[in-house]
Formats: sequence, C-alpha cells, structure tokens
Amino acid sequence: MALTGLDIFKLTPKKNCKDCGFPTCLAFSMKVAGGGAEIGKCPHMAPEALEKLSEATAPIMKTITIGAGDAEVKLGGETVLFRHEKTFVNKNRFAVAFCDAMEDSAIDEKIAHIKEVNYIRIGEEMRAEFVKLKYNDNKDKYIALINKIKASGLKVAYILDCEDVDVMKEALELVKAEKPLVYGANKDNFAAMVELVKADNLVLGVKAESLEALYALVEEIHKLGYKNLVLHPVANTVKEAFENTVQVRRINIQGQDRTFGYPTMVFANKLANGDKYMEIALSTLFTMKYGAIIVLDDMDFVRALPLFGLRQNIFTDPQKPMRVEPGLYKLNGADESAPIICTVDFALTYFIVSGEVERSKVPVQMLIPDAGGYSVLTSWAAGKFTASSIAAFIKENGIEEKVKTRKLILPGKVAVLKGDLEENLPGWEIIVGTTEAMFIPKFLKELG
Ligand code: SF4
Repeated sequence: MALTGLDIFKLTPKKNCKDCGFPTCLAFSMKVAGGGAEIGKCPHMAPEALEKLSEATAPIMKTITIGAGDAEVKLGGETVLFRHEKTFVNKNRFAVAFCDAMEDSAIDEKIAHIKEVNYIRIGEEMRAEFVKLKYNDNKDKYIALINKIKASGLKVAYILDCEDVDVMKEALELVKAEKPLVYGANKDNFAAMVELVKADNLVLGVKAESLEALYALVEEIHKLGYKNLVLHPVANTVKEAFENTVQVRRINIQGQDRTFGYPTMVFANKLANGDKYMEIALSTLFTMKYGAIIVLDDMDFVRALPLFGLRQNIFTDPQKPMRVEPGLYKLNGADESAPIICTVDFALTYFIVSGEVERSKVPVQMLIPDAGGYSVLTSWAAGKFTASSIAAFIKENGIEEKVKTRKLILPGKVAVLKGDLEENLPGWEIIVGTTEAMFIPKFLKELG
C-alpha cells in the first residue's frame, strides 16, 4: 500500500521528529526524493509502502562489495554514462586468471608477478585486486589451487569461477570468510546458486550468452529475492563484448532499468586469445567502457603501467587536478650533495619532469613545493608558485639542514623568479633550467 498525501499529512509531527530529524514529513519526503535521505529512517511507514518506496528511491546501479579486510573492493554505484557529467564512483578492478589445469610452477609464477606489481602512485595503491579461479573438471586440483592461493598471502579478493554447484559448495567452504564473488549462475543452475549464497549474502556472478538471455535470467533471480549480483554478458568477439557492456550500462542508466543495475565483468584475456598487447589494448577500452572487473591473463609491469595510469585518470574528478605530495624526492640514487631541481606538484608535470630526470641518469634531488596542484605557468600566474612560496617551503621544511647542496634549478618558464629567489635564499645559486622537459637530460649532463 503506497502512502497518499493525506497519509503523509497525518504523519506530520507537531515538532521535529526524533527519528529522521526533519521538521515535517514533507521536508523528509523531499529529501528522500532527492536521494539525500533513506526512506527506511521513518519507522511509521507500512512495510508494503516502505518496500515500494525503497525500490523507487534506490540508486539506479547497486554498489556491490566483494572481499574482506584489506582485500575488500566496491564496484558499481555509477549514476552517469560519462565522467564529464559527474565523477565516476567506483573504479574498475583487475583480476588475474588461474585454473585447475595449471602446473604448480605456472601458478607460482603468476603469484610472484602479482606480488611484484604493487606500488603507490599519487597516493593510490596499484595492484591486481582479484584472482579468478576457474574450475574445469578436476576438483582435487581446484581445491588445491584455492588452498595454494590462500597460503600465498596475496592481498586479493576471490572470484570462484565454477558452474558445478556441488564443487562450488565445497570450494566456498574454503574462502567463505573472504567474501568471494561466486561466479557461475546460469539458466540451469541459478536457483541452486542463489540457495548457496543467500545465507551469507555473497555476491553472485550471473552469466548468459546474449543480452536478452541475461536480462531474463536476472529477472528470474530477482523473483527469488536476490539482488547482490555481478553480470557477465558472455561474448566471443571484441565487437560483441563492447556492444554488450555498453548496452548493459545504457539500459541501466539511460533506460533507468534496475534489472541491469549491476557492475559487469569482461574477460579481456579470452578476447585477446593469448596476445598480451591486445589484452592491454582491450583492457584500456573496457576501463573506459564499462568493465567493472577486467580479467587478465597475468599482471606484470607491461600491463600495470598503462592500465593503472589510465584507470587513475578515468576514475578521478576531472575538475580536481591530481597532485603529488609536496616534499624532496631523491632520484637516480642522489645524496644530499646532489643539485636540487624544482617543479610543481601537478602530477602530470611531476611525472614528465621526473621521467626526464631519470632518463638523464644524473643524481638529482627534486623539490616539490605546494603549488596548488597546477602546472608551472598556471600556478605562477595564480600566485601559488612564486619566489617567496618556494623559499618559504624550503625554510619551513628544514630543507637547508637536510641537504649539503646550495644549487637550485628553476623551470625555465619562470626564469623571472631568479632575482627574487636569490634575495629570499641568500647563499644559494639559482640556476634557470630548461623551458621544456625533453631538454632536461642534456641540461643536467652539461651542468656537471
Ligand atoms: Fe514524519 Fe516519519 Fe519523518 Fe517522523 S520519521 S517526520 S513521522 S516521515
């Protein structure tokens, strides 16, 4: 039974409601309609009305949580198709594929690669977040594989890829506490799979060979009352995979259809058919167009650097520049006697300049003052990268005590700061550097 306007009027309290904190039911309703409050905060709602309104005011795409502890990840929760409309909510994640047909040495090699690729870039940890464990036909080896991954100490969430309900049940017992993605519900086994996951509210991975079949299957699963899902529209070609993934998102967001309101999986490894570089190219495509879990054959630096870099760009607020932490960074094995090169904290500038410094192989200390996260000329024009701000950063952070050098190289584009800096930093030699980063290696080598 839905609430009528009269019902709402009758429910209006004489003073501020202690339950929702709003002065009137109408104020509360307006907030709920805008997505700013949860309808469940009102304890006076009839259960049927609560169910209907919860459905109507729920986010268009569910936020799904998989994994436990440090390995927990959130997927979905998106509200728009394009990042220029609104910042995306939850970044996509990368999974490395294992299966029960693999030799121990091959399993060990992949585990070692996953451990190796784990680094921080602009405050974000870059690593493979999932392992996908496929069951083919050898239960003993499958169980041994799960145990081996568990024993490896990898900080990853699990995807149990298995359509055999009995084997899944056994496998699940090993990693239930790790809250895995139970991937394997199809048109034949979905009822049994729902039974398997519902007591622990684990995420169920649902697969079908066409969008229509997937839609019908999700409807059937909804009828069983289960809505904690990840979708996999199975595709045999790149074209089909792209169409499916985009269509699922469009039907959900543009069509306001919650049947497809779940994150999706893409098997880039299968589509690439053993071609590592094709796998990277496809993974970049599906990072942008809408793979929430992208399955790779392996994780190494060749894959990690472009994929994690792109992901970080796509899943951050385009209005807010990415910044590196201000400080003094030592490059190429520099000690405290190495000259200091100064640039801004805008991440793109930092990585371009530090890349060129590394290419020069000359030991250099890199000074990054707080410049508001803008590029050199923009921060200078905004008054955030000035002689006094650079000098103040050096003094306030005790840089003069930490280093033995008194050579400071400025970006060539702000050569105008040289005179003021010499006044602000007596005893320092202020050197005007290059106007373009590409000339840095030659400049540093000649500086001696
Ligand atoms: Fe009205 Fe319910 Fe909100 Fe109280 S909790 S103000 S009764 S809507």
